[in-house]
Amino acid sequence: MTDFPYWPDDPLLDRTKHRMQMESEPVASCLAKRTLYIGTCSCGEMTPTEPWDNYAVSEAFDAHMYDVQVELHTAAAAAQQEARQAAKQKIVDDWNARVPVGTPVRYWTGEREGDGKTGRTRSAAYLLGASSDTPGHTPVVFVEGAGSCIGLTHVQEIGDEA
Ligand SMILES: [Zn+2]
Repeated sequence: MTDFPYWPDDPLLDRTKHRMQMESEPVASCLAKRTLYIGTCSCGEMTPTEPWDNYAVSEAFDAHMYDVQVELHTAAAAAQQEARQAAKQKIVDDWNARVPVGTPVRYWTGEREGDGKTGRTRSAAYLLGASSDTPGHTPVVFVEGAGSCIGLTHVQEIGDEA
């Protein structure tokens, strides 16, 4: 996953939680005859660097921020997926609460154009494609006269028609 901005521009990232902390390391600096730093992040999850030049510490901090971004974006994607799934399940639940099996409906097997066909539902609605390890993806119902299930977006209760 790389489709997110450089971390200073990432809205998901709480920059107040991640401040680079850089401290000079006197012994290593003395040996190297220049100032070297140990860097870490204020969040406490970044392994402190070796005594390095400040640019190298900055690079390590960037790498840490990238890891944080991957985690944030993975979690956000999972939450979004969960919300989508819940919305689909709600469509099914609402339908089943409202439309008993045997209700007269109008349905469309292709484009939702024209009058469509009429029949009665012969199943409760459910999510197509569900298995033990995969949630279903499309709310559908079986209708008398139609060989395969029909997407709920293409089924309408006849009593509901204006
Ligand atoms: Zn951090």
